[in-house]
Amino acid sequence: MSSSDRTSISPLSASADAAPNAASNPMAEHLAQRLYAELEDRRDDLIALTQDLIRIPTLNPPGEFYRDICEYLSKRLAAKGFEIELVRAHGAPGDSEKYPRWNVVARRDGKFPGECVHFNSHIDVVDVGLGWTTDPFGGELKDGKIYGRGACDMKGGLAASIVAAEAFLAICPDFHGAIEISGTADEESGGFGGVAYLAEKGFFAPERVQHVIIPEPLNKDRICLGHRGVWWAEIETFGEIAHGSMPFLGDCAVRHMGAVVNEMEESLFPALAQKRTDMPVVPEGAKQSTLNINSMHGGQAEQDPDFTGLPSPCVPDSCRMIIDRRFLIEEDINEVQEEVMQVLRTVEESRDNFRYDVKELHRVLPTMTEKSAPVVQTVAKAIAETMGKEAEYVVSPGTYDQKHIDRIGKLHNCIAYGPGILDLAHKPDEYVGVEDMIDSAKVMGRSLIDLLAKPEAAA
Ligand SMILES: [Zn+2]
Repeated sequence: MSSSDRTSISPLSASADAAPNAASNPMAEHLAQRLYAELEDRRDDLIALTQDLIRIPTLNPPGEFYRDICEYLSKRLAAKGFEIELVRAHGAPGDSEKYPRWNVVARRDGKFPGECVHFNSHIDVVDVGLGWTTDPFGGELKDGKIYGRGACDMKGGLAASIVAAEAFLAICPDFHGAIEISGTADEESGGFGGVAYLAEKGFFAPERVQHVIIPEPLNKDRICLGHRGVWWAEIETFGEIAHGSMPFLGDCAVRHMGAVVNEMEESLFPALAQKRTDMPVVPEGAKQSTLNINSMHGGQAEQDPDFTGLPSPCVPDSCRMIIDRRFLIEEDINEVQEEVMQVLRTVEESRDNFRYDVKELHRVLPTMTEKSAPVVQTVAKAIAETMGKEAEYVVSPGTYDQKHIDRIGKLHNCIAYGPGILDLAHKPDEYVGVEDMIDSAKVMGRSLIDLLAKPEAAA
């Protein structure tokens, strides 16, 4: 467990709190008005595109229909003059012949040199679950909302970014720089077959891409600067197998684990509740350190649901617990691990034969883009201009693909901004509002004008 990859991220600078620069040049203003009209005209197209994307059931796990959705996106964007690269993440976790991890990267270069703005969306959706009253893959439009798994997280955001880019190209074909749109695999399971793979291949290198917007559902007037850190670990306690009628001849690993949970309740959970962050994390409950006990298993394996036999009587000799610790930018990952080790040492002092092991499963360090970063300033200004209100800055309680762009790609000018209500993600009857998609497409298109349109570029 190395701590060498910890990046120190300085806190938000006070000077960046200043209102976004409201002074616009007349050319940009004129282009913006044309862009908004273009987007209103493209409302039906935006709805149809979102529905089409929802109807490709890209469930992850196992990672289905990635190739299909990449081909759909390729066809659409190639017709608008984008150069297309289909990239399979060979050898990434989850990649197989049955479930290949396909990604699409589309790039449209402008007429003049300049910076590249990249919109990255994940194409996978999580399991449907129970409780739906609409078809999860039907894309039904009802009362201005489009329903389906992934509508909000994040096919609505992907569709909004595509239509925003297309509307921008219609009014400003001779722009500076480049626009990229990517659809990437596996975000819901860590992003290793998606953005992490592309970042390793140089797709997010700062010399290729300068601004990244990830249209995750953070609400249309909020800019997400980053996310908390993650430490997943497995704790195992050991016992000794014996006949269940004579447990005194063995040693029950589950009882040892019970003592661990008890000690967590006594000392760890109260301590975590005291740790508060200056990061603008939403919702409020996530402004502190948190720990979830993800799963616990001891003794005999669970049988298939159709198994009709009884268990055999044994004292469990092993119990495993998976913990999901989310930590703050003010915390060090070594400290996070040390707290768990302290719980185990405390239990060890008071119990005979207490033996344990801890294995790290996964770690992600917290990340936060500076408020003064150009992409933050540009999108904040676009929110102010299109919605007439100041952008709200937030930090996500859970991680998303920004971690790979930041750490592997070394590109720190990255935010999440997109339509959809965060709380609906992964829920039954997930939906995205059409008006929200239009509004956020205006913000994305307006940002393209400010970053890529120069006086000689206007059509
Ligand atoms: Zn998402």
